[in-house]
Amino acid sequence: MKRLIFMGPPGAGKGTQADIVKEKFKIPQISTGDMLRVAVKNGTAMGLEAKKFMDAGDLVPDAVVIGIIRDRLVETDCANGFILDGFPRTVEQAKALSGILKELRMELDSVVNLDVPDEELVKRLLGRAIKEGRSDDNEETIKNRLHTYNTKTLPLIDFYKGTGILRQINGLGSMEEITDSILKQIQ
Ligand code: AMP
Repeated sequence: MKRLIFMGPPGAGKGTQADIVKEKFKIPQISTGDMLRVAVKNGTAMGLEAKKFMDAGDLVPDAVVIGIIRDRLVETDCANGFILDGFPRTVEQAKALSGILKELRMELDSVVNLDVPDEELVKRLLGRAIKEGRSDDNEETIKNRLHTYNTKTLPLIDFYKGTGILRQINGLGSMEEITDSILKQIQ
């Protein structure tokens, strides 16, 4: 049983690592980015609203993603733990999450932060743009996503530092090396 948050700038590899770690602990990976992309694809009202922000590299409003997470965490498969991948991304979201978890009588085990320098992130994200064709992976949007991360999400590191469950991980290296250091720090 593990309740984990994976944090890190866009392109840090949190999705890839969450994918590996969820198999190890047999827990669901909850990616707000993936859920929003599904909503966009299905053309729901929420998806249509979210798309504007996503395409610009801005954050979708807190109330929208907090609602998504609230609905998801009460599902039965989360009773044995979960990995939040890409949520929370603002202090407001982190506070809302604390409240939701308290209501559900759940406690977080670890907040994993993948640390990767900006130059490396731009390189990786441009590479992914070509491979996956994500509409938010062009150069201008990438720059805005990094800026958004640095201004809105980075303050979360301090928010979680005080809780004693923050694990800082060097996100440079092979996939296996990074998985190893994550597993060592969260066991
Ligand atoms: P991701 O796949 O995690 O990089 O998310 C892609 C995009 O979805 C982000 O650039 C945001 O526009 C939006 N998004 C995903 N998660 C969140 C969140 N927790 N808060 C606000 N916007 C989000």
